[in-house]
Amino acid sequence: MVRTANWIGDAVMTLPALMAVRETYPEAHIAVVANPLVAQLLENHPGCDEIIVYNKRGEHSGIFGMLRFAFALRRRKFDCAILFQYAIEAGVMTFLAGIPRRLGFTTDGRRFLLTHPVPFGETEKTIHQTDAFLRIVNHYDIIAADKVQALALLEEERIWAKEQLPEGPVVVVNPGAAYGSAKRWYPERFAAVADFLVSEYGMIPVLIGGPGEVEVGNDIAAIMQSPVLNFVGKTSVRQMMALIDSASLMVTNDSGPMHVAAALKVPIVAVFGPTNHTTTSPFTENYRIVRHDGGCSPCMLRECPTDHRCMDSVTVDDVIEAAKSLLLEIA
Ligand code: SF4
Repeated sequence: MVRTANWIGDAVMTLPALMAVRETYPEAHIAVVANPLVAQLLENHPGCDEIIVYNKRGEHSGIFGMLRFAFALRRRKFDCAILFQYAIEAGVMTFLAGIPRRLGFTTDGRRFLLTHPVPFGETEKTIHQTDAFLRIVNHYDIIAADKVQALALLEEERIWAKEQLPEGPVVVVNPGAAYGSAKRWYPERFAAVADFLVSEYGMIPVLIGGPGEVEVGNDIAAIMQSPVLNFVGKTSVRQMMALIDSASLMVTNDSGPMHVAAALKVPIVAVFGPTNHTTTSPFTENYRIVRHDGGCSPCMLRECPTDHRCMDSVTVDDVIEAAKSLLLEIA
């Protein structure tokens, strides 16, 4: 049993570690425990044979929901639990599920719940998150030949995306960030960058985002000079993945969809502010990070307590220049 991470972006960054489990134990039945959104992300992925949905906002809410879930897991008689989630809850759940081997970082005071602990120190805090997840499994000789961070899409999902979009190069604009407003660059600046890409490169702008980002999507659509396809709040995770997969470029905040684009090998221009641009950069070759160090970054806060200078100092021209240089490089 693999307890994966709760955020889409983190779950993407666990994929090389998940594939290491698959490669080391090709005969194993790998069941991944995931929340409903991450469960969609992992559908049809070669690293898992089964996805078990753990819905803390629904049927498994509260302490009794977790206990019911843990005792349901107990009936499955798993041999080993690998915890990519850092919280003590994952340790408690797998302990109560009676899983005899429990492997994970010694985070959140859960060392006593693990049979196979992995030390979490300064190195794990400062290396790329993808490599940190790999250290969990590598510590116990679960190793893959390559670091493969890829997502699986079905042909019918690609066809669905194709049907939604006119012919031509697509730029996906992702103006949200589920983590909080501190991570968000500004709608009028995204709009200006998208308008530039339409006028200079003939790109088709497509807005994506979750239900909590509808307002920002509508703002951008209203500000833009060019027509835009606005899918914010209108797609499932799988549909969003298919739209990203069809793109020639993504312009984004540091967010889950950014990591999805990296896994789908879509070139990325990402604006970073309060988050760490070295530990959570896109795990891919073709990307540009645009950021300015205002002296307080990375603060890792969800809301900015000051003047949001980390984002405010990133101009439209900065992002356009990054996009131009990336497009030139991959042409
Ligand atoms: S405190 Fe600094 S790094 Fe954090 S959001 Fe505000 S301006 Fe950005």
